[in-house]
Amino acid sequence: MTELRATTNDLPHAGDAPASATPVSAQALANDVAIAATQPATPGYVAVDPSKTNLFDLDRVSLEDFFEQTLGEKRFRAHQVMKWIHHRYVTDFNDMTDLGKALRAKLEQHAQVRVPQVVFDKASADGTHKWLLGMDPKNAIETVFIPDKGRGTLCVSSQVGCALNCQFCSTATQGFNRNLSTAEIIGQVWVAARHLGNVPHQQRKLTNVVMMGMGEPLANFDNVVRAMSIMRDDLGYGLANKRVTLSTAGMVPMIDKLGEVSDVSLAVSLHAANDELRSELVPLNKKYPIAQLMEACVRYALRKRGTSVTFEYTLMKGVNDQPQHARQLLRLLRQFDNAVQMKDAAKVNLIPFNPFPGTRYERPDDAAIRSFQKLLNDAGMIAPVRRTRGDDIDAACGQLKGQVMDRTRRQAEFRKKLESQGLGDAA
Ligand code: SF4
Repeated sequence: MTELRATTNDLPHAGDAPASATPVSAQALANDVAIAATQPATPGYVAVDPSKTNLFDLDRVSLEDFFEQTLGEKRFRAHQVMKWIHHRYVTDFNDMTDLGKALRAKLEQHAQVRVPQVVFDKASADGTHKWLLGMDPKNAIETVFIPDKGRGTLCVSSQVGCALNCQFCSTATQGFNRNLSTAEIIGQVWVAARHLGNVPHQQRKLTNVVMMGMGEPLANFDNVVRAMSIMRDDLGYGLANKRVTLSTAGMVPMIDKLGEVSDVSLAVSLHAANDELRSELVPLNKKYPIAQLMEACVRYALRKRGTSVTFEYTLMKGVNDQPQHARQLLRLLRQFDNAVQMKDAAKVNLIPFNPFPGTRYERPDDAAIRSFQKLLNDAGMIAPVRRTRGDDIDAACGQLKGQVMDRTRRQAEFRKKLESQGLGDAA
């Protein structure tokens, strides 16, 4: 399922706070898709034309190259087109009125601006908004916008499904289909920004993007980095580096690679502060254990003075919510602070687990959550507990569900497990 975060702040990686109590079932999704079929076509939707370059795939430099090398035009023309697309949400070249007729004809011949198809969208009473976006005829993902005091956060997916298999993550139960292209990633931002009437540098309603939806962003490195470059570009969405956050389950070498090419905020799905437990919850930990992961985080933080790293910790009843777990977490994060020689360099977000059908994990009761938090607070660590948003439109943490044509056997196995528990309809 699409595990986009519908929370107020500090959204975690997709699997961090896996589902809520009532994830959208396949039937609900089918209903959404059926209703959507009766809706008018998406404004600006353009069918795939493999002979043309989708300009959503290109960041500033690659678009300049395209203008120079493919169209034989001056590089600065690319800037005009970027503004039309990302600032004014214009996708028809004929409406780009400051381009000459000949250039518009060339663009028509060689390029297209293909926006994701909005299969369905819903607004919550609290201002949260979610979209079901068709990525191709067989796969759909969900994107959620969460407004909150002075900020608006969009939670974006990087893959259809996820190849990692975090045990508490409902996305994991859907298996994996493919990476999203740069166009499909930035297209999620475009759809939300256009809906919000976002005007970069002026009326900015979309102030933050978190790569915390479905998938492991660092497993789709090039496309994610290019999309984040458009998010941060003044000719794109003009977001400051710290307002774009990438969340990873801990792909250590790729954290270093990210540090070489980008300066976005880093979040890590931690969930346990000892290797035995973390390897159970996040199997990737067997390959990149906590010590290696923390060293990579330290290297990331040390590149630039003042950089902090956010650690996401999903609280599961009787699994990782006991006082000894809080003390282990505290120790680990203090070590991080010391290594980067900065107080509060490690930030932590506590995410009460939201159960989904078939999971063996449970949400701790409120008292247990409060005492875990208090133990951290008493030691001087700020540890906010995430507040759920958008639950009236099934957009709360983990309630969202895309459509994954699984290429692994995981989805079928999970369905079988649900059926054996009499929960077949929830698959
Ligand atoms: S890495 Fe994949 S399986 Fe793990 S929490 Fe994130 S989305 Fe879920």
